[in-house]
Parts: sequence; structure tokens; C-alpha cells
Amino acid sequence: MAHEVPDIALNNGAKMPSIGLGVFQTPPNETRSAVAAALDVGYRHIDTAAAYGNEREVGEAVHASKGGRAAVFLETKIWISDYGYDETLHAYDKSAGKLGVDQIDLLILHQALPSDFGRTLAAYRALETLLKNGKVRAIGVSNFMVEHLTNLLAKAEIVPAVNQIELHPYFQQPEVQAFNAEHGIVTQAWSPIGGITFYREGEHTSTLEDPTIVKIAESHSKSPAQVMLRWHLQEGRSVIPKSTKPRRIAENFDVFDFELTTHEVAAIDGLDTGKRGGPEPDAITLESFGREIPEA
Ligand code: NDP
Repeated sequence: MAHEVPDIALNNGAKMPSIGLGVFQTPPNETRSAVAAALDVGYRHIDTAAAYGNEREVGEAVHASKGGRAAVFLETKIWISDYGYDETLHAYDKSAGKLGVDQIDLLILHQALPSDFGRTLAAYRALETLLKNGKVRAIGVSNFMVEHLTNLLAKAEIVPAVNQIELHPYFQQPEVQAFNAEHGIVTQAWSPIGGITFYREGEHTSTLEDPTIVKIAESHSKSPAQVMLRWHLQEGRSVIPKSTKPRRIAENFDVFDFELTTHEVAAIDGLDTGKRGGPEPDAITLESFGREIPEA
């Protein structure tokens, strides 16, 4: 049975479904079917990015779905190679063109570019313009640490609605979460079930096999992935789990019929290792991560 997804209110009054489907590393030829499977079971939010190379297929699946474009909250990200005021305005045209829409629900900067923060700020100014012109319904950032947010807020006119960051039981970034909360910025968890950790060496290979999480899952007759998603939702975060498999896509959405106890939530809070799985945000440079985003 399809559930109504609870919304999270953004700081500008827009509403965002709290759970969305992520499509990072979803190959273009599998994207349409993954998005269609998600929309079928009730997802109303898709998180893509210019850098993922699958915006076109996301758009196609959304337009072909029963509810059509109007029923879906579309989120995408500007890649660092397109930072700068004019460049980012043009990047919007590229993304909107591939998605086949004339308005994007949430447009965010994929990374800060600490080595050239001026370009990051110019890109953000372009997002503010797009918001004022009605081209997007909300704007935000991703992988912004406290220092980046502080520098941004010193210059920005509009507080970002969302900061999408690596966040799962093994890496919780409490200082970024606290800063976001203090400024009315929604924390959106990427790798919400710890996807980025699955290939990590060492003792805690996968959050899916963590004994604390497995035990909680068993006591609720739920899966470890469902427990992690529930944990995020109960702490007020937005989640965007990725899968290409219809069974898992449905499983990850089936998280609205149980509740973790305060004790269980605290036990998962206690699993933070402080160890990042993804790239260090301060190490992002155009030289190492830049690449051309094709025209629509
Ligand atoms: P997730 O935590 O969503 O984990 C995805 C992995 O878990 C995939 O390998 C998937 O495999 C597997 N999986 C999914 N559901 C289940 C399940 N129920 N049981 C067991 N395994 C499962 O990690 P991601 O890194 O993909 O992050 C999610 C989304 O966050 C991305 O798709 C993207 O939208 C966003 N993101 C943003 C980043 C940024 O810099 N802003 C960086 C990274 C991600 P399979 O597909 O085979 O099911």
C-alpha cells in the first residue's frame, strides 16, 4: 500500500517530501526503471545532479508517470565546473532542459569550492536570482561545513533551505547538524544507510551489519536499512536512499509504520565514529574534480 510521505517544511514555506530516491551511480539506462519503481510505490521526491549524468532519464520517468511532473519534487545539483554567476545561470538551463521542466523544486550547489570561494559565492548569487525569478522553488547547498556556511551566510541574501551532507550512523557530523538547525537549514542525509561505508576497510565495514542496528531491526521485524531511515526521519532529517532494485526501493519507503524508542535512537546516535567515508570537502578543487557538464 502506498503511504502519504510526510513533508518537511523548508525555511521559505515550500514543502519537501521527507524521503526521496537518490540516483548517484545509477547508470542512465537503469535510471528510468528505478525512478518509475519509486514513483509506483509512492515516492514523490527524486535527488539527482548534473554530475550524475542521468537528469534526462529522471525527467523522462517523471513525465511518463501517472501523476506527471506536478506530483514530484525534483532536486538537482550544480557541479563545480559550472560555478560563477553566468555559468551557474547557464547550468540551470542545462539541468532544466535535460529534466524537461521550466521550474526545479530544489537546486543546490554540489560542493563548496574552498580554493575559490568567490566562485562559489557567485554561483550562490545565481541561485538567488533563479529563486527570485521563479525558476526554482528553493535553493541550498551540499557538503558545506560550518566554515563554508559561515562564509556563505556573511554574504548571502537568502539562507539556504537545505544542506545535503554525508550522514549515517557511522558519520553524523553533529556540529554541522547543529549549525544547520540554528539557521533554519534542513539537514539532508546522503548515504543515509551508509552506502559510502560499504567498501570501507576496517572493523565497521557496513552499517547494514552493525550489531546494534541489526538487533533493533530484529526487535521491530524491520531491516537494518529501514531502521537507519527511521532514525533519520525521527531526528527530523530528509533522506534520499539509493537503489536500482525495485524490492529495495519499496523496502526503503516502507518506514512509516513503526517507531524507534528514545533509547534506540540514542543507541544509534552512539555509533558515530567521526570518520568520513566520502571525500574531504576542503580537498575539492577544480583541478582534481572538475569536468564538463554537457549541454541539454
Ligand atoms: P545509500 O546509503 O543510499 O546506499 C546505497 C547503497 O545501498 C547501494 O549500494 C544500494 O545498492 C544499497 N541498498 C539500497 N537499499 C538497500 C537495502 N534496503 N538493503 C541493502 N542494501 C541497499 O548511499 P548513496 O551513497 O547512494 O547515497 C544516496 C544518495 O545520496 C545518492 O544516490 C545521491 O542522490 C546522494 N549523494 C549525494 C552526495 C553529495 O555529494 N551530495 C554524495 C553521495 C550520495 P543497490 O542499488 O544495488 O540496491
